[in-house]
Amino acid sequence: MKRANSYLTDKQVEQIKVKLLADKERLTMRDEIDQKVDTLNTYHLDRSELSDPVDEACANVQVAHELRFKSREIFYLKKINLALEKIKEGAFGLCKDCDSEISFERLLARPTAELCINCKESAEMDEQNNFILKRSKSFGQTLTERMAR
Ligand SMILES: [Zn+2]
Repeated sequence: MKRANSYLTDKQVEQIKVKLLADKERLTMRDEIDQKVDTLNTYHLDRSELSDPVDEACANVQVAHELRFKSREIFYLKKINLALEKIKEGAFGLCKDCDSEISFERLLARPTAELCINCKESAEMDEQNNFILKRSKSFGQTLTERMAR
């Protein structure tokens, strides 16, 4: 089997892998702490027999906030797992769009990066262009409409 990530040395891959695993551990550890905090919170809630609607509303906002934060963490965790999977398969470090090699510096800074810097930049540019295009399209339409009158 051809090793797709042969442009990275084993040492470089190892360096990124350590980073990914450390991030993963940090996220998983926080999960355990959260669970402990949850147990504490439940205990407090059980003790206060009279529930204050204001407190409840606050708790709901907090839960919603935590959930949003959590889903971002889960998203990142998934990307970490994907990157680790790619390392195992030997397909790590290749751009999702153009298959070109993502630079080691970029991978070290963002081990979960899926696009090379060129594709990332052009994706961002496309986003901007689409926005401008949409605006100029609607602008063009009003002009044509006016001309037709
Ligand atoms: Zn690319």
